Amino acid sequence: MTAPVIIAGGGIGGLSLALTLDQIGVPCRVIEASREMRPLGVGINIQPNAVRELFDLDIRSDDLDRVGVQAREWALVGLNGNEVYAEPRGLEAGYKWPQYAVHRGELHMLLYRKVIERLGADAVKLGTKVTGYAPTDVGVRVDLSGPDGETEETARLLIGADGIHSVVRAKMHPDQPPIHWGGAVMWRGTVRAKPLRTGSSFVGLGTHRHRMVIYPISSPDDDGLALINWIAEVTMENSEGWQQEGWFRPVDISEFIHQFDDFRYDWLDVPQMLTNADCAYENPMIDRDPVQTWVEGPVALMGDAAHAMYPTGSNGASQAIIDARILGAKMLEYGPTPKALAAYDAALCKPVSELVLRNRGAGPFGLLNLLDERCGGVFDDIDQVIPTDERRDFMAKYKTAAGFAMDELNKAAPTIPPGATVA
Ligand SMILES: Cc1cc2nc3c(=O)[nH]c(=O)nc-3n(C[C@H](O)[C@H](O)[C@H](O)COP(=O)(O)OP(=O)(O)OC[C@H]3O[C@@H](n4cnc5c(N)ncnc54)[C@H](O)[C@@H]3O)c2cc1C
Repeated sequence: MTAPVIIAGGGIGGLSLALTLDQIGVPCRVIEASREMRPLGVGINIQPNAVRELFDLDIRSDDLDRVGVQAREWALVGLNGNEVYAEPRGLEAGYKWPQYAVHRGELHMLLYRKVIERLGADAVKLGTKVTGYAPTDVGVRVDLSGPDGETEETARLLIGADGIHSVVRAKMHPDQPPIHWGGAVMWRGTVRAKPLRTGSSFVGLGTHRHRMVIYPISSPDDDGLALINWIAEVTMENSEGWQQEGWFRPVDISEFIHQFDDFRYDWLDVPQMLTNADCAYENPMIDRDPVQTWVEGPVALMGDAAHAMYPTGSNGASQAIIDARILGAKMLEYGPTPKALAAYDAALCKPVSELVLRNRGAGPFGLLNLLDERCGGVFDDIDQVIPTDERRDFMAKYKTAAGFAMDELNKAAPTIPPGATVA
């Protein structure tokens, strides 16, 4: 047996699990398909519940400030430039932990460096794919394909952290439907520009079918310019499914900029901002239908392999980190055993699957759907259309469902008690 636990996939989820297992004294090995780790992707948000877990892994503000910036505000603005809703976020809202807006690739590289420092260079086997598995009398056989050809290893547990195209999930649920595309397309990229509003605000601007999301993922430099993450999003007719190749296709701005010609305000000129962009990628807004269970005996799914979700709630990466910590907590309770995996499944599969469906219904952007239903998105005074209490209530419900309701989080005991190890 190579290591008691094999983790398929060294993304944010798999590496958070490796760090967690190391913390509680369970040896593990990560098998990663990419031949080298590179800082891929653009902006993501790490919600306070997940930042708390990173802090408990001794990944502190010093580290996180190098890969992102603390978020101060979440704001929705209508196409006419009028504010629909705004609320403070992270420490400003009263959480004990900040919310971070980070560069996905830089956070990923930070976690990778921590894994190598703490677990050693052999802890991550690069350039090797998990191609299948079979439960055995003592654990699980893991099939691999890499530079040594087709090989196999055995372990007590296999955790599939291999993302939305997960091989482990396909093996566990061979009849699952194909990836689900709801009709929205996102173009994402970064640009150096002056941050909006508070200087660290997440701004959703437009309508329920046609909008921009803009937020900084670095502190401003001496000229006041920060690295800004932008997402341009439109919903289109989708009866024929997604036709393009690839899920993160580099594109030219000219392919979509015309759709945002009207997004010009005295505080923001979207076409100008897009023209200055460093890069742009096309991304269909995709997820997967929830499954009944994430566990088959000694094998479990986590992160996007378990619950790929629309990024409308900015919680895909946060949830992957939470999964890792709950897996660790259950191994503290039951050892690295199938029983621990079953307890993890019982705790998370149902509520997180509900969150996947809630994000399909636009997540916190659902306020824009409400606005459209009530006034076609045209308003002067938002209070006349959606009263303040109703807006606050809507957001509070979302945060509870996503596991970052403030009062509950602030008083929750640590997921992994300090110093706890598996006997
Ligand atoms: C290259 C990339 C760029 C991304 N950019 C963004 C972004 O800009 N914004 C955003 O919101 N989200 C982005 N995401 C998604 C986001 O990172 C995830 O939703 C979230 O972090 C959950 O991570 P995860 O670890 O579960 O899955 P992922 O981040 O998808 O990681 C899965 C890992 O498993 C590896 N892998 C896949 N199949 C196998 C296999 N068979 N065997 C071994 N290893 C395998 C992959 O190479 C990858 O490293 C990106 C994901 C990737 C992979």
